[in-house]
Amino acid sequence: MTSVANVKRTSGKNMGNVKRENRSLLLTQLFFKGRKSRTALAHELRLTPASITMTINSMIEEGIVVDTDQYELNNRMGRRQQFIDIDYARIHVVGVTITSQQVRICINDLRFHCIYEDLFTLDDTVADTYAQIICDKIAFGLYSVGLSKDGIVGIGVSIRGNVDTEKGVSEDSFGLLPKHTQIRQDIQQRIGLPVSVDNHIRSLMVCEALYSRIYMENSLFIKYGPGISSAVTINGQLYSGGHSMAGEIGHMVLDRNGALCRCGKRGCLETLSSFRAMKARLMQHTIQTLTDLIALLEAQDPETIRVVSHSIHHLLLAISNMAVLFDPKDIILYGELFESARFLEIFHRQLADETPELMPLLHISAHNNLLDTYMAGALAIHAFLESGGSLVPGTKLTTQNP
Ligand SMILES: [Zn+2]
Repeated sequence: MTSVANVKRTSGKNMGNVKRENRSLLLTQLFFKGRKSRTALAHELRLTPASITMTINSMIEEGIVVDTDQYELNNRMGRRQQFIDIDYARIHVVGVTITSQQVRICINDLRFHCIYEDLFTLDDTVADTYAQIICDKIAFGLYSVGLSKDGIVGIGVSIRGNVDTEKGVSEDSFGLLPKHTQIRQDIQQRIGLPVSVDNHIRSLMVCEALYSRIYMENSLFIKYGPGISSAVTINGQLYSGGHSMAGEIGHMVLDRNGALCRCGKRGCLETLSSFRAMKARLMQHTIQTLTDLIALLEAQDPETIRVVSHSIHHLLLAISNMAVLFDPKDIILYGELFESARFLEIFHRQLADETPELMPLLHISAHNNLLDTYMAGALAIHAFLESGGSLVPGTKLTTQNP
């Protein structure tokens, strides 16, 4: 499991682990809480002055953190002391989001400022050439904005479907790439930078935590529209399960005699509440996109309201079942539909009527519909914080020539 938005202190047995954990704690603290003095960092991380000095000095040398020109007065000693911060001006990540429509490359800093974006499609020769095409596009992007690989701490790749995060393998992307594609290996060996891979929903959840600087301890994250998917954290750890399929809310069976789902089962939530299900249920209207559906809702079309209400009913039922299983502290909802005032009206009314127990837990993402650009890069930021800024074994981030 990988940790979201926090890194737990464990008692490492060898010096390498302790060093990595200290670096990880320090980076995480700076990222979530902002710049700090050496004294404050030593206190918060429970490290000796010698140990914090050693850790910070090596990270300054590697170009990961900097002494900022901000100072604070140390009251006890009566001395001014300098703040330490992540070197935001220097460090960037690359995000690669692969969807059925396109591949999006985004280069951004650790404050999620996008400095380069490219959209392109992968052609039919994808199996043999996808990694080379992506790496060429990344190289071109870096060249365009005048960045060298030295300033990139990682590449995140987000792809739909079943992803083995530990191995960096896309087990099944439902036709985007061949089954069992070794994305991490394919890209890492071509470009020589650390690569993190996960599916869209877990990428979004990581992005929500990092973008909002919030700690998701025991949370559910649900994306609604066009499909329905969810991700889970347990004790601050992103939980992907025994087969990387944990939290697949879209394939929770709600009606054993229901319609056949693309997964092979009958009556899954997807067959009842997804955009495709709503589209099929509309008799008086032909729609193509969620935007069309929202337009009908906003026009208060009675049939659309009935169909959407039917979908919300089953969605709430599924969320309620998940809440019983996982006992989350909060449930975050994400998706285009939550941008519609009419949809929200119906949703909140049904929430109060049908599942009032969920009311204190449910809230809509503070950055709803805005994170898709950054979700792949968030995987790289997360890996950077977790690893304490260490890169591919044998390489070192340095401001000097290697
Ligand atoms: Zn299904």
